[in-house]
Amino acid sequence: MAVHDEAPPASGRLNPWEMAQAQFTAAADRLKLGDDLRAILSEPKRELIVHFPVRMDNGSLRMFTGFRVQHNVNRGPAKGGIRYDAHVSLDEIKALAMWMTWKCAVVDIPYGGAKGGVICNPKELSQAELERLTRRYATEISLLIGPHSDIPAPDVNTNAQVMAWIMDTYSMHAGYTVPAVVTGKPLAIGGSEGRVEATATGVAAMVELAAGELHLPLEGARVAVQGFGNAGSIAAKLLRAKGCRIVAVSDTHGGIYSASGLDPEKVMRHKQEHSTVVGYPGAETVSVEGVLEVPCDVLIPAATENQITGRNAPNVQARLIAEAANGPTTPEADRIFFERGVRVIPDILANAAGVTVSYFEWVQDLQSYFWTSDQIAEKLSQVMTRAYGEVAEIAQRERCDMRLAAYMLAIQRVADATQLRGVYP
Ligand code: NAD
Repeated sequence: MAVHDEAPPASGRLNPWEMAQAQFTAAADRLKLGDDLRAILSEPKRELIVHFPVRMDNGSLRMFTGFRVQHNVNRGPAKGGIRYDAHVSLDEIKALAMWMTWKCAVVDIPYGGAKGGVICNPKELSQAELERLTRRYATEISLLIGPHSDIPAPDVNTNAQVMAWIMDTYSMHAGYTVPAVVTGKPLAIGGSEGRVEATATGVAAMVELAAGELHLPLEGARVAVQGFGNAGSIAAKLLRAKGCRIVAVSDTHGGIYSASGLDPEKVMRHKQEHSTVVGYPGAETVSVEGVLEVPCDVLIPAATENQITGRNAPNVQARLIAEAANGPTTPEADRIFFERGVRVIPDILANAAGVTVSYFEWVQDLQSYFWTSDQIAEKLSQVMTRAYGEVAEIAQRERCDMRLAAYMLAIQRVADATQLRGVYP
């Protein structure tokens, strides 16, 4: 049986927006979604492009370009992270915004999808330049963001400090403190317990549930992690605590492999000292792409889009892939995995714990009443376990992979909300 009804374009990497469209079309076809709903759901609601100046430390002025895209807000305010990267493009942000809509719907939290980004290399900027860039970008997109309209969060190369600057900037304009305008803030200014490790906690929980179904014991299971940032490094640490052996990790400089296992805490210290995992004592060096193909049972892509394609999917040795990253696997690679019986837990489910705890943070901020880390952990576990069960049930019923199942669940929820609200005027 074909897992997707429509063949995606040629082999290899895809424009992320084309990839998002292909995934949407496959699920919409299966759901027999009508033309009107397809037309509404297949495009973003708003796309804002901003060009803005930032004063550099040496007194010169530099222009930057940023984006904020809201894909759909029929189920609630727009929600999605902000990415700082030299290769950010409008198409990438559109895809990420659409994926956020589906992600929030899969875990059934009352948000629509959004994403933002600035074209920059944050490693080349001083803290002061980064702060000025962030405050100006936040001001430029304040046309859209707000605690009841669109709530940013951290993503690649942004963190709690960047969120603190955005919250402060928005609050300065409002004249009073508005903690609920962003999530992923430091605890001291309205952040939530459990947010930093939320995404990885969810990824580890999804791995545990799927490994149980696959009769793959976690004790001694070999895990490879691509991308050793917030999501990847903490996932490695949590999976090791569950008995897994972390055999490979990587960053933009390359990867390291050790059949006997790596200690993620020690690798993290090495990375802090040397700005890369490469060179970690006692491990073999592997290429950036090589990490995806090492002997392992579980693969965690935790870097960026388009990493596992038709070209390298046949070489992936893992039985289970849990997508901490957004959009790491192309539709062609998905088809190969489905045929080979490799289980893929799709991004919109696997990494949804991040936005789920962001939702908890927002609710706490709006109520000015904060929960304990045990309360967060318990509520998160309930949401993720329920979502996994619902997606697995659809995958079994429809005899499809978990991505298509997750898309069907999510798109149906968004379509129902859209239908009920009707078309204005
Ligand atoms: P991060 O900036 O903390 O880490 C990204 C890591 O990936 C860095 O170590 C970087 O060196 C590495 N990297 C980038 N390109 C690479 C490549 N081609 N090969 C190997 N390593 C590479 O970012 P993060 O917050 O951990 O996000 C990682 C992914 O997880 C992104 O796709 C993001 O959208 C997704 N995600 C993150 C969260 C979250 O809460 N942080 C939530 C949901 C999804």
